[in-house]
Amino acid sequence: MAHRVTLIPGDGIGPEVTSAAVRILDASGAKLEWDKQEAGAGAYEKYGEHIPKALIESIECTGVGLKGPVTTPIGGGFSSINVALRKRFELYANFRPIQNLPGLPTRYPGVDLIIIRENTEGLYSGIEHEVVPGVVESLKIITEKASTRIARFAFEFARRYGRKKIHAIHKANIMKLSDGLFLRCSRNISKEYPEITYGEHIVDNTCMQLVMHPYQYDMLLLENLYGDIISDLCAAFVGGLGLVPGANFGDGCAIFEAVHGSAPDIAGRDIANPTAILLSGVLMLRHLGENEAADRVQAAIDRVYRSRTTLTRDVGGTASTSQFAEAVIEAMQEATAPVEAERV
Ligand code: ATP
Repeated sequence: MAHRVTLIPGDGIGPEVTSAAVRILDASGAKLEWDKQEAGAGAYEKYGEHIPKALIESIECTGVGLKGPVTTPIGGGFSSINVALRKRFELYANFRPIQNLPGLPTRYPGVDLIIIRENTEGLYSGIEHEVVPGVVESLKIITEKASTRIARFAFEFARRYGRKKIHAIHKANIMKLSDGLFLRCSRNISKEYPEITYGEHIVDNTCMQLVMHPYQYDMLLLENLYGDIISDLCAAFVGGLGLVPGANFGDGCAIFEAVHGSAPDIAGRDIANPTAILLSGVLMLRHLGENEAADRVQAAIDRVYRSRTTLTRDVGGTASTSQFAEAVIEAMQEATAPVEAERV
């Protein structure tokens, strides 16, 4: 039976990279049935809503989404569709694996880092108001429930996949109550997992430590804002935002999306790198239990990177988005049997 998946192409480079990913995933051997839905400014023009009811109903029905980036206007306009969807479906855990691709030289080879970001609260609660003209207030909400839930998710992941170390990242020296609570919850949960080393680092120091000694970290556990910022920093280890996949997990629902945004500076030119959304698709295939198809796609991506003949310009090549997609499909078809992904 086919897996029904809600497909949200998004805007900016979203439609280009998702359509490349869909072509490849469809060629992987997994049976996928896409329910295409719109969100954001385009949806508002057509339906009068940024998140149309049909999109909500589709995700309620499929429980799985593959989502392209949706632009959030800066400094005004409607609030983030990404944040709203994560809240609506209680997608509390944002999972971002940072791993090198074979054959792609970077400043730091062999990076293997997992970022777990709390997705529903913190400063991204979007509760802001003007107190008096010239003074605004933005509330950072941290709850025991959400902090405990994300810490549990991180430690369960570590136990299940044999990860060795988790660092909770904070600024509890200044935000004693909010980050203090996040830290207390992480610390409490860590006691239930004695086999996993637990550490705590202050977020500004973490930025420096990451750049100087990235290999000291195994998994990072962060509240919402720090997770967003540190994810982009870590994307640079492995070649940039075009390469890092992500997944948002809740109880009974998961939406897979790249770490990058809608990249309006390169939209509509068929030059964006679809690897990040494609790798998000690989995570989705694994979530759906389609491990053989996931291995096939992963092996084909690895082969294309190793050969270095059809890479997009963000990683030093000259290929277009669609040429890259064709190369991955070709590599998949050339492989006679699923090949174990060879990582750096
Ligand atoms: P947001 O705040 O919406 O998460 P962002 O601040 O992370 O977005 P992006 O839209 O991701 O910003 O773009 C940051 C830079 O990375 C831009 O120069 C963009 O062109 C580049 N970039 C992002 N995604 C890709 C991609 N898939 N391929 C090539 N370049 C990309």
